[in-house]
Order: sequence, then structure tokens, then C-alpha cells
Amino acid sequence: MTAIRFSNVGKRYPNGHDALKGVNFDLHSGELAFLTGHSGAGKSTLLKLIMLMERPSRGEVWVGDQDLARLPRKQIPFHRRRIGVVFQNHQLLFDRSIFDNVALPLQLSGYDPVDAARRVRAALDKVGLLSREKLNPLTLSSGEQQRVGIARAIVHKPKLLLADEPTGNLDPALSEDIMHLFEQFNSIGTTVLIASHDLSLINRMRHRVLTLKDGRMVADVD
Ligand code: ADP
Ligand code: ADP
Repeated sequence: MTAIRFSNVGKRYPNGHDALKGVNFDLHSGELAFLTGHSGAGKSTLLKLIMLMERPSRGEVWVGDQDLARLPRKQIPFHRRRIGVVFQNHQLLFDRSIFDNVALPLQLSGYDPVDAARRVRAALDKVGLLSREKLNPLTLSSGEQQRVGIARAIVHKPKLLLADEPTGNLDPALSEDIMHLFEQFNSIGTTVLIASHDLSLINRMRHRVLTLKDGRMVADVD
């Protein structure tokens, strides 16, 4: 089954810049792949099209069996909730506990609080931070903060997990730990796409690598 399909996708920003040109690829359900390329190659743009934060100028983007161009506007929030997203600067809220940070997406979608608490603790357990749930994320190291960001991204049990430079601020050992976490989620069936320009890390991980150069997909290596 296809998790993501790009069919001849172009993205031209209003200033006339072509950020993606004729991009084709399929990611199957249950796959883990890296998306690499230099800064400005189009990695974030590609992820934004999947999340419907941007629309393609041409071509088709499919997520599962849905052509995103045909997704009714009302369905967009539900589409986004089915995708977990991890950012480089984890975007945690420092005015509340670690628990409350991870609970936020569930609160926004109106989960029963008891059910939400159970899921939050399961997510924190998976990233090894259950014992710290009551603390403020400011008390954590940057690697641990990134783990909170990952717990928040997977608390919904998304079928698809996207990451945009998730190890950008971390040293090599911590970066590898974070990548192993992604592998762990992948091994239980989550499809994972990780944008990163850290080639040495990517080469150590032995997964499929999609390479963008100036908006074109120039390599796709298993
Ligand atoms: P037209 O030039 O008649 O508008 P095109 O099929 O060339 O028709 O373009 C359709 C849309 O795709 C336009 O909005 C255009 O800006 C955009 N577009 C054209 N070429 C590219 C490209 N290489 N990459 C991304 N978008 C493109
Ligand atoms: P990457 O994530 O690989 O660094 P991006 O997708 O962020 O690449 O950017 C691809 C190209 O598109 C860059 O040249 C960038 O400057 C340009 N770009 C990104 N967002 C916009 C925007 N909103 N408007 C105009 N150009 C943009």
C-alpha cells in the first residue's frame, strides 16, 4: 500500500521561485526513508505539501488513498491529525509541564482526559521520559527536549511520522539515539520520512535515501 505518492509535483512560490520541479516518488506503508539535499533543495517544501501547509503548483500529492487536491476543506484538520510531525526546534511550551506538552494535541482534538493521560504516559514511556512527566521541559537537555517533541508527535499513534531536521541541534551520539527512536516506531508499522542534511548520520543508518537538488529528485537509493 502507498503511504505517500508524488506524481510530477512542482511547487512555485508566489515570488516565482520553483522550489520543487517534476518530483516523483512513492513511499510504501511501513517504510522508513530519509530525504536529503543541501539547504534550499526543497525538503521542507516537500514536507509542507504532505501536511497541506502548502499546495502544489502542478502534479498530484497522495497520502494513503487520498488525492490531497480532492480533500474537502473540512477534512484538513483531520488529515493533519493523522500525521505526526517533529521539528528541529521542537516547539515546546515552557509555561507548562512535560506531561501537558505531550497532552496538548489530544486536548485540542477533544480526547477524554482519562484516555488522554493513559496515552501521554505511554508516549513518554516510549521515549524514556515517563519519570520526568511533572517537570518543566526547561529542566531537560536538548536531546531530551527533542524526545518530548517526538512523544508529542506520536501521542496520536499516527500512521505517518514526518521529521524536519530532527537532529539539527544535537551532537552525533544524541542524533543517533533519536534516529533509533524513529526506527523503533517504524518497526511497529509507522511510515517515517525524515528530512536531514546530516549525510554522515544518514549513511550510518542504512535506509532508503531520497535526494533533492535545486528542487529536483536526483537520486533514490535503497
Ligand atoms: P501556464 O504557463 O499556462 O500557466 P503551466 O502548466 O506551465 O501553464 O503552469 C501551470 C502552473 O504551474 C503555473 O502556476 C506555473 O507557475 C506553475 N509552474 C510552471 N512550471 C513549473 C515548474 N517547473 N515547477 C513548479 N511550478 C511550475
Ligand atoms: P530545504 O528545506 O531543503 O532547505 P526549502 O523547501 O525550505 O528547502 O526551500 C526551497 C527553496 O524555496 C529555497 O530556495 C527557499 O528559499 C525557497 N522558499 C521556501 N519557502 C518559500 C516561500 N514561502 N516563498 C518563497 N520562496 C520560498
